[in-house]
Amino acid sequence: MVLPQWFECTHATASIPASRVPRLPTLYRKSIVEHSFLAYLRGRCRKLAQVTVGIGDDAAIIEPARGQQIACVDQIIDGVDFLSEKHALTDVGYKSVAINLSDIAAMGGTPTSILVTLSLPKQNSTRIAGEVYEGILEAASEFDLAIAGGDISTYDGPLAVSVTVLGTVERDQAFLRSGAQEGDAIMVSGAVGGSIRGRHLRPVPRLDLAQRLRQAVKVTSAIDISDGLSLDLDRLCATSGVGAELDTDKIPVHEDAGILSKSSGRTPFQHAWSDGEDFELLVTMSQSDADSLASQELGAPFTQIGNIVGRTGLWQRQQGKLKRLSPQGYIHESS
Ligand SMILES: [Mg+2]
Repeated sequence: MVLPQWFECTHATASIPASRVPRLPTLYRKSIVEHSFLAYLRGRCRKLAQVTVGIGDDAAIIEPARGQQIACVDQIIDGVDFLSEKHALTDVGYKSVAINLSDIAAMGGTPTSILVTLSLPKQNSTRIAGEVYEGILEAASEFDLAIAGGDISTYDGPLAVSVTVLGTVERDQAFLRSGAQEGDAIMVSGAVGGSIRGRHLRPVPRLDLAQRLRQAVKVTSAIDISDGLSLDLDRLCATSGVGAELDTDKIPVHEDAGILSKSSGRTPFQHAWSDGEDFELLVTMSQSDADSLASQELGAPFTQIGNIVGRTGLWQRQQGKLKRLSPQGYIHESS
């Protein structure tokens, strides 16, 4: 691996005899990392029109959004959301951006810039920051995001990466969780389940798909699947004050769910129902809009898995009877 340029900056800046470094106050040591880090980042970041003043001043200056500003933040922590001894830190950096982009996609927005905060364990902080940032820069380049700023600290704790994404959406055109109506079709993009086999590290945020969907139909509500199909559908329904009647056989099960089921003791369906981090889109639209999608090429499949109903909760019709489905995947009998 080619060392990032700021490794050299760090060494150049830290020309203080090594024996003196431990006596430096914490804040001074932080500033050594921070200054060399900023020098590295300035060299690596592309200049994009949306950010007038980026890294290197006290704050960023960002051009006002057309339409409405959209913003979200998500933090991932070693030992909670990933395992640094198992997962490549470049993947962790990429994921920290991509999971936020998935939220922007679920709102029907377009991301423009990011702010990044790294909390680094004291040991190997320079190497860790460099590797994480390789993935962040890769995602920024892939999705045309300006890195507008951020913060970096070292401490006695695990690696934590917090990314804030700013973006735009046309006025009053955002997809919300609250708009699902009785009779609407429930559609899911791609296939779900078993992302832990590796997909969760390199999620594909459905940004382009969401825009193509907007051109094709009127989306009445949307959410991205981060915590599991059933949990996120339950959240969407709860926010809209409705329920869902599902044709569970139609749920598109990812092949990873099938492979995982051979060793997990759970069925492929159970994985599809409750595994997290698929980062697919779950959307609702009128039944006629859903029917019209069958003949349109959006770049990824949308599958109808049921319809919105007035009765709250998740339901499955089996041999004429309604069964209540639990968002955790357990099925309880009901009349
Ligand atoms: Mg989300």
